[in-house]
Amino acid sequence: MNRSALKFIPSVNEALDRADPSLPRTLRTLLVRETASQVRQEILTAVRSFSTAEEVRRRFFAVLAEKEREARARRLQRVLNATGIVIHTNLGRAVLPERAVRALGDTAAYCNLEIDLPEGRRRSRLERVEGLLTALTGAEAAMVVNNNAAAVLLALSTLAAGREVVVSRGELVEIGGSFRLPDVMEASGARLIEVGTTNRTYISDYVAAIGPETAVIMRCHPSNFRIQGFTTSPSLAELVEVARKHDLPVVDDVGSGVLVNLRKYGLPYEPTVTDSVEAGAGVVTFSGDKLLGGPQAGIIVGKASLVAKMKKHPLARALRVDKLTLSALEATLEIYLGDADPAAEIPVLGMLSVGADVLEGRAQELARILADVGGAEVTVAPGQCLAGGGSLPEVSLPSWTVRVSVPGLGAAELHRALRTSEPPVVGRVADGVLHLDVRTMDPADFPLVKASLVRAVGGRRDA
Ligand SMILES: *Cc1c(COP(=O)(O)O)cnc(C)c1O
Repeated sequence: MNRSALKFIPSVNEALDRADPSLPRTLRTLLVRETASQVRQEILTAVRSFSTAEEVRRRFFAVLAEKEREARARRLQRVLNATGIVIHTNLGRAVLPERAVRALGDTAAYCNLEIDLPEGRRRSRLERVEGLLTALTGAEAAMVVNNNAAAVLLALSTLAAGREVVVSRGELVEIGGSFRLPDVMEASGARLIEVGTTNRTYISDYVAAIGPETAVIMRCHPSNFRIQGFTTSPSLAELVEVARKHDLPVVDDVGSGVLVNLRKYGLPYEPTVTDSVEAGAGVVTFSGDKLLGGPQAGIIVGKASLVAKMKKHPLARALRVDKLTLSALEATLEIYLGDADPAAEIPVLGMLSVGADVLEGRAQELARILADVGGAEVTVAPGQCLAGGGSLPEVSLPSWTVRVSVPGLGAAELHRALRTSEPPVVGRVADGVLHLDVRTMDPADFPLVKASLVRAVGGRRDA
């Protein structure tokens, strides 16, 4: 009957009455129009055959429901991370500590961002966070900008614009495709002087490169890779000694911003921010949302005279952080300054330090919960996961995963159904099977994983 079936396509008004009212009206209208046009094409090209009005209508509302599902899935929202990657940039990096979340909600109203309440005078929005950062790291001064890329840009724009920055070839890193040290340097107006080779750079290479135009010696932590084997690079202390002789500052981009000894958590030692400060770096920059476990931010600590110059640079205003970032960051830093083990309150540290035996128990529990979802086949297996987010590149952590398969659904199809379910679950497909890694999941959320799987499988059956 094709062609004549066109008249059974519901009217825009009828469809709008049945569309998801939680979506904005303009989006609803757009989805209804797209649906009508898709079903019209299906009828005209006869890719599907329709024999009754009811079939046309059922197809129409199934297509609309799928489009609405996709539109809801594209809203920025909470996602259950079952990838095992603790600092997952695509999933928003660090899970904030509860205390930071409360602070965010609290300062969303009016807050004392730039007013000293006891004195009633204006204050810098950075005053309090600066005090926390200097107390934690032993640095003379501190400031906070939008992210670590901004911190490096501000440091070099302030200290080296129009002059030269000496850096090792082995440290010209690209992080996640969005941060290329050479590009950020160029944007600052500084000229890059590369020294050494990819795997070996000696202190004499730096010394030979220093001239009248040199403004900064830069060190950049190779956060997301390791060059192994035949390698040499001078220690920070050696760089500082040479820099001092020439009255130059060392800018040290440490990347992750470790504030505690990671050995305490069974992880390899990673140089801390305090190590850099104590070695004499003039400026140390790092991210707020990597191993530190707070909100996106670029944290700068260092010598008072250098930080003061950076605060006065016009870029400081362009790169400044808002009250939400500051409230979450202050709350996170206060945890480090408290008496308790920070891993108890900072999810990133907590997730990185859970033992494999505990994770095995959690995987068994998740498997038990998912086992009675109609049709799903669930098994438990050991696996490996990463810290992620350009942190601890050579550390592969032992983990446990739950493998889920649903007969008649491919692994990729099941994964897509879970990603667009409510709440969305993001896992990992390997060897043709969907894996849910429990290291990055809170056991309190396991019932939500089940609800999501029920909807995902049910949604597929209806389609
Ligand atoms: C992650 C990283 C950056 C970029 O930090 P953002 O906070 O994402 O801007 C810069 N340098 C190093 C060494 C890093 O690890």
